[in-house]
Amino acid sequence: TTFSELNLSAPLMRALDEAGHETPTPIQAQAIPHLLNGRDLIGIAQTGTGKTAAFALPILTHLEKSAGHVAPKSCRVLVLSPTRELSGQIVDAFKGYGRHIRPRVELVIGGVPMGRQIRAMSHGVDVLVATPGRLIDLVEQRAVRLDSVEVLVLDEADQMLDMGFIHAIRAIARLLPEERQTLLFSATMPAAIADLSRQFLNDPVRVSV
Ligand code: AMP
Repeated sequence: TTFSELNLSAPLMRALDEAGHETPTPIQAQAIPHLLNGRDLIGIAQTGTGKTAAFALPILTHLEKSAGHVAPKSCRVLVLSPTRELSGQIVDAFKGYGRHIRPRVELVIGGVPMGRQIRAMSHGVDVLVATPGRLIDLVEQRAVRLDSVEVLVLDEADQMLDMGFIHAIRAIARLLPEERQTLLFSATMPAAIADLSRQFLNDPVRVSV
């Protein structure tokens, strides 16, 4: 498979070229067509397989194709990730692959003051990348609202469960619209991840690399 066979837009193709990505990785080749069709997806993939681009490229396509109005304090895409470091890498990927689309991308993580995050969210953003605990704090402070999320990504879901984020994830999921696209990525598929998938995903495609 080539990137042009995946029907990505010219601005994305240009960004891929500039990133030096010549061909899609297996997770990208398998996941991107389903994600462009709006399907929910379970991706069993480790870090280093190109999984971030596997979800960032179709999400950027969605943002390009549909009108960009975002309500104050809201986001259209919510990515939950276990750690500050991974969250930062995901933000960088959206900004890098989205450099010719220029989505508004914000990072909400613990361990830093909340004031800047609250101000950054006040006008709404396209993509919010967050660790679950800090996101709950901002929701409780009425600084973030989640009722217009169109796409939810649970990245490294097994690690989020290992870190005890299950209650936070459930609390966040209750605030999201029922009608949305949901993607779950995990390196492993223990029973707890299968349970999570049954609860939060609708007829998901499964891709394993
Ligand atoms: P990830 O698995 O998302 O953490 O990505 C691992 C690394 O692979 C990142 O540094 C990406 O820049 C790189 N990468 C992602 N997709 C491709 C590709 N199609 N070709 C070459 N490198 C890639």
